[in-house]
Amino acid sequence: MERASASLWRRINERYNLVGNKCENCGKIYFPKRIVCRQCGRKTKMREEKLSGNGKVYAVTKIRVPAQAFKDSAPYTVAVVELEEGPRVEGHVVDAGNGEVKIGTKVHSVFRKMHADGEEGLIYYHFKFEPV
Ligand SMILES: [Zn+2]
Repeated sequence: MERASASLWRRINERYNLVGNKCENCGKIYFPKRIVCRQCGRKTKMREEKLSGNGKVYAVTKIRVPAQAFKDSAPYTVAVVELEEGPRVEGHVVDAGNGEVKIGTKVHSVFRKMHADGEEGLIYYHFKFEPV
């Protein structure tokens, strides 16, 4: 039980801080972390790597009919962002103002509230992206 909880918290830290890892053999960077390098196809030495959070929009869509948890924030923009280190991650795009978020728009990660369980429930946080 304690072990499962420690593992969960370690993962939360990685997610909150955009910590991935890098294969010391070929240099490929992963997020989330991988034990085995997909490129080398075998167990190589993987080193922890903090990602910059800077990247550009690879694909983007606007959500008008949201999942229940995000009903208060619709419509909102979700993008696949290609980080400058290589990994592609999905995240909400915030504070876009009136500017349109398009493929190629430069963004950086910010730490924001994701959703809450009811009025007084748990508040969940996650990284999101903001145009630069
Ligand atoms: Zn590798």
